[in-house]
Amino acid sequence: MVFQNTRTFAMEQDAADNLAPFRNEFFFPTDQQQHPMVYFCGNSLGLQPKSAQAFLQSELEDWHKWGVEGHFHGKKPWFHYHKFLTDHTAEIVGAKPHEVVVMNQLTVNLHLLMASFYRPDEERFKIIMEAGAFPSDMYAVQSQVEFHGFDYDEAVIELAPREGEFALRTEDILAAIEEHADNLALVFFSGVQYYTGQVFDIPAITQAAHKIGVPAGFDLAHAAGNIDLKLHEWNVDFAAWCSYKYLNSGPGNVSGVFIHERHALNPETPRLAGWWGYKEDKRFLMQRGYEPEPGAAGWQLSNAPVFGMAVHAASLDLFHKAGIQNLVAKSKNLTGYLDFILKESRNHNSDLRFNIITPDAARGSQISILTDEHGKQLFDHLTKNGIVVDWREPNVIRMAPAAMYNSFEDVWKLGQALAGFRIISSESASSTTA
Ligand SMILES: *Cc1c(COP(=O)(O)O)cnc(C)c1O
Repeated sequence: MVFQNTRTFAMEQDAADNLAPFRNEFFFPTDQQQHPMVYFCGNSLGLQPKSAQAFLQSELEDWHKWGVEGHFHGKKPWFHYHKFLTDHTAEIVGAKPHEVVVMNQLTVNLHLLMASFYRPDEERFKIIMEAGAFPSDMYAVQSQVEFHGFDYDEAVIELAPREGEFALRTEDILAAIEEHADNLALVFFSGVQYYTGQVFDIPAITQAAHKIGVPAGFDLAHAAGNIDLKLHEWNVDFAAWCSYKYLNSGPGNVSGVFIHERHALNPETPRLAGWWGYKEDKRFLMQRGYEPEPGAAGWQLSNAPVFGMAVHAASLDLFHKAGIQNLVAKSKNLTGYLDFILKESRNHNSDLRFNIITPDAARGSQISILTDEHGKQLFDHLTKNGIVVDWREPNVIRMAPAAMYNSFEDVWKLGQALAGFRIISSESASSTTA
């Protein structure tokens, strides 16, 4: 597509976009004049679907009306509430319905999955992952290796990009997996790197792990609802993601889990158990001896947190209606347009000094720019102009137009704000703040 930096062009794209009406299904934060902001933070916290309230209200009503009997007589009985989310979740990550379940929160699920898939012994105990992973993932991995009696520095191999590069090369990842073949117990990567926006080659990494007989697991927090995923077909062993980034289900909400059917249908696959993962037809017999429900549902611990899951169900409904493939296709154009606008703006405004660190050929909706020492000024300028992006220390600005609710006009507006940016020299800055 040949892009143009004009409002007319952006509006033509929006008019031709079949998904454009979904924008009206969301609430946008407003500025002090009550104008909706340009929201590019869906990678951090997605916007609220207008339907969330009705979904939540429905569960509050069933609780009101039924009390405990809501487990069986509610409109969506809580006894197997997770099932109401399974099909749409499976569509988003490219799984069979019995390979996914929604439960707990993301970091909790990473621990549960590592309990199943990180089974170290004296020889094979290492975990390979990207350097600079999301902190919760680093802490989860560190505590897992230490829990098993290993030393963090010895047991965790962190792969960093080559000198002067921002993204990891797939060839380097695959070579490192091969190199550590004798000692690895687990290959664990994110799907989309939260800081750089790099999309990792999940099928190639999975294949390399399997070649040396090791499971491959992925944290898809920034990937679910953003990029095309085919977890079943790619033979991924396990994955987990949160529901509140691209999946728009609200702060701290529940997490989704994928466990490939070759493990999930095997009752012998080790796991940490709780009553909600027990064989459903016998769950309330309250017997000794754990018998898991077949599939990922057999990893559930606690009864479903229905209020959070109701909001998630509202959002999943929109994903089902929009179609994940359509969203991914739109996202490619929308992010392509963002890339174009960023470069155009930089060409025409010498005060814009940044490098795009997200690889063109391996990105989803997010583009991260590495700024110079005036980055914070640029970030503040964008905020003042009604553009919501996010700042990550030491000097990265992340922006992610979400295909579900962002428009081409939003991206054009970002360009207008960028055009108006002027560096405030430290002298005038100190005089204005004095
Ligand atoms: C957002 C995110 C998390 C957050 O974990 P919670 O348990 O939901 O707080 C963890 N890992 C990654 C990679 C993330 O992007």
